[in-house]
Amino acid sequence: MCGVLGIFSTEPVIGKLYTGLLTLQHRGQDSAGILTYDGHYHLKKGNGLVRDIFDEHNTARLRGQVGLGHTRYPTVGEGSVEDAQPFWINYPYGIAAAHNGNVMNFLELKKELFEKSHKIINSNCDVEVILNIFAEALEKSSRHDVSPESIFRAVRTVFKRVKGAYSVVIHIAGKGMLAFRDPFGIKPLLFGVDRRLIVPGYAFASESVTLDLLGFSEIRDVPPGSAIFIDQNREVHEKKLQAAPFKPCIFEYIYFARPDSYLNKINVYQARVDLGSKLARAIKKSGLQIDVVVPVPDSSRPAAIEIARLLKLKYREGLVKNRYIGRTFIMPGDQMREKSIRHKLNPIAEVFAGKNVLIVDDSIVRGNTSRSIIQMVRQAGARNVYFVSYSAPLTNPCVYGIDMQTKAEFIARNASADEIASRIGADRVLYQELRDMERAVKKQNPAIRSFCQACFTGEYPTGDVSKSYLEQIEKEREENKLKQMDLGLQY
Ligand code: AMP
Repeated sequence: MCGVLGIFSTEPVIGKLYTGLLTLQHRGQDSAGILTYDGHYHLKKGNGLVRDIFDEHNTARLRGQVGLGHTRYPTVGEGSVEDAQPFWINYPYGIAAAHNGNVMNFLELKKELFEKSHKIINSNCDVEVILNIFAEALEKSSRHDVSPESIFRAVRTVFKRVKGAYSVVIHIAGKGMLAFRDPFGIKPLLFGVDRRLIVPGYAFASESVTLDLLGFSEIRDVPPGSAIFIDQNREVHEKKLQAAPFKPCIFEYIYFARPDSYLNKINVYQARVDLGSKLARAIKKSGLQIDVVVPVPDSSRPAAIEIARLLKLKYREGLVKNRYIGRTFIMPGDQMREKSIRHKLNPIAEVFAGKNVLIVDDSIVRGNTSRSIIQMVRQAGARNVYFVSYSAPLTNPCVYGIDMQTKAEFIARNASADEIASRIGADRVLYQELRDMERAVKKQNPAIRSFCQACFTGEYPTGDVSKSYLEQIEKEREENKLKQMDLGLQY
């Protein structure tokens, strides 16, 4: 998952891009980049957090009224700064791009671009491939007269050639700004207008909260398989280019997105409340004797509050999070992760001593987080520890951009809830039923027939995920892990 932002304004854009990226920081903490345009492209990228990369000196040269921003969460490559986005090229036009997603046929397309067009893809970043394919297609479709129609034809070619999930924002120098979302609409992408300016400004972002905080209104989703192009005269052109079943990623609502965002007309906070409400029924049926409900901060708080309310139980914030430590999952390697979990969460003994505790989390992936938490809570004096996940068991790797690692690492793979309980040291583990999970998230927008929930079911909506592809990504992830160990990134 990454955060992407594009702003087409009539005012200097750097302030908005910087503030906007801060609202997308949770979508990737590995690296960030900002590109602006004032007749030239100006670019600054770096590894780390937005606030550590950009300062008043390096942003002073990011001039222009148009720009792109990106926060990266790596799924391909080794996480070097060369792979950070945005990217730009100068032929056949000045074109810059940033995206959120994962291109499954990245290596194949990289090879094809070299063999057929002598194009070198220098990075391990898949947007470089999208950018080159789009540019090549635009050259053919426009014959040096770039029009909205020629742009849409080029996007159609991207849809045909690029497999996977991708929400892309592109700037075409002297022509305008374009955004498109893959035909299945797996990744979110929203569009907004700033009417406070004499000439309206426009923006695209991965989450509605970004547009909202930057003062954009009329916020709506870019429809799946569609492109929106804003030309130099600020005219908006929009076209549906390819139809496919709409399959937005359900994990956005479970864990990834900010609770104050609306994605595909579903508020993330309310989705988590509804997930809690469904899970409360299962907990009630289980007959567990519970003294206190405790959330694992932050994502599970809305669900835990709802569970406590519905079951008329005490709710306590018994785990205190050190907010200055990043998301542990995003750090490379398990040992590092386990250590940082202990530094990140601290139990309040008063809440746990002598109690039967229900701990609520959004998900269990490898089980490292839950194991550490249960250990901490027991040390703090808990009598019985019940661990519940408001999502269903995660069992399959995500090929669309969420770092879920290899199959073997999923604790729920080929294991029952009782086996998982004994492996993480809980007295009982309960999961949300898959159907309840889907129903809870769908509640606010019944027009969505189904979600991409491949990480729970192994059914990949793009339909082209072969066994050998899964083996290949597993191998790459294993190799990356070993490289990180060599680099001393694990301790
Ligand atoms: P673990 O079971 O130790 O692998 O980690 C599970 C925790 O990591 C959950 O409590 C989530 O809050 C968080 N998490 C789950 N999936 C992801 C992901 N793809 N990226 C980052 N964090 C995640």
